[in-house]
Amino acid sequence: MKIAVITAAEQVGLREEPDPVPGPEDVLVRIGACGLCTMERRLYLGTKPIYPVAAGHEVAGEVIAVGAKAAVLPGVPRVGDTVTLDLLTRCGSCTSCRRGRSALCKQPQGGALSDGTISMGAGLAQLVKVPARQAFGTGSAPLRHAAMGEPLACVTHSARLGGLRAGDRVAVVGAGYMGRLHLALAKLRGAASVGLIDISEERLTEAREAGADWTSTPAEAVAKGGKQDLVFVTAGAPDALETAVAMCDDGGTVVLFGAFPKDLSAGISPDAIHHHELTVLGVFSHEPQDWTEAAALIASGRLATDLDALVTAEFPLAEVDEALRLAAKSPVYRVLVGG
Ligand SMILES: [Zn+2]
Ligand SMILES: [Zn+2]
Repeated sequence: MKIAVITAAEQVGLREEPDPVPGPEDVLVRIGACGLCTMERRLYLGTKPIYPVAAGHEVAGEVIAVGAKAAVLPGVPRVGDTVTLDLLTRCGSCTSCRRGRSALCKQPQGGALSDGTISMGAGLAQLVKVPARQAFGTGSAPLRHAAMGEPLACVTHSARLGGLRAGDRVAVVGAGYMGRLHLALAKLRGAASVGLIDISEERLTEAREAGADWTSTPAEAVAKGGKQDLVFVTAGAPDALETAVAMCDDGGTVVLFGAFPKDLSAGISPDAIHHHELTVLGVFSHEPQDWTEAAALIASGRLATDLDALVTAEFPLAEVDEALRLAAKSPVYRVLVGG
């Protein structure tokens, strides 16, 4: 099969790799679409210089073989099904996995191709095999929606841990791709209102077109949106946490979703947290139940309009170089590669 390997900053090429052979508990998938995320942008730009590397972790495709042990189990996708794939390693043995927090599995992620090339998803390829439990059917949804399973599972995880309920007043800091997925999910779940906060006027305009009840720059957020029950921070900007805490009503929750710079610290008042019963919560990645929910939402078609609005461009695998260049160098929502 063909697979894309990034060999240096802004250097990517296709090469041959032996077809993966599924074991009795695996499924083999012909990849139809793979989203380019922050990780792929960093690898391509050289801000995360790990080379050579086979990237691509937001993968969807068609099942072309199912191992014998998996094939007899209810719930396992069948040959011909469209699936979205969880490519995380969940060892099941470490302290995190034993507590049901496999998003925080302590086993190092990733693997290797046949020649030792580092694999971080390896979804920019024609084929992939995964344990059957990590393939989730997406019904008749198009591949471009199924390829949003991984980021959407991050967002269902965020909403689950954050305790999102119908009737909540919700604000989302950051109107990029992840912010927009939070908007779509919160609307679907019956939020009383959802506001988006960003420094880009263009992104705020697009958020209003996508159904945001209000939008604001960070400086005006409290004045414009008022107090909130739940604030999701999807952009790890300085002052984002302070902005979010200032917006929280009594008993409210701040969910820190986006990555922050490692050396950034924040000034928030312990008394405000105590006196107003605020919750400040970190969320990271996803767990199997978040995938079940994300795949079902994609299959239902209820997010179809929202997901379509977030596809910036689609490229065949042969044009992976162009796709990575666009994703890394322009403000995009999602660029998809495959097929
Ligand atoms: Zn991702
Ligand atoms: Zn583990």
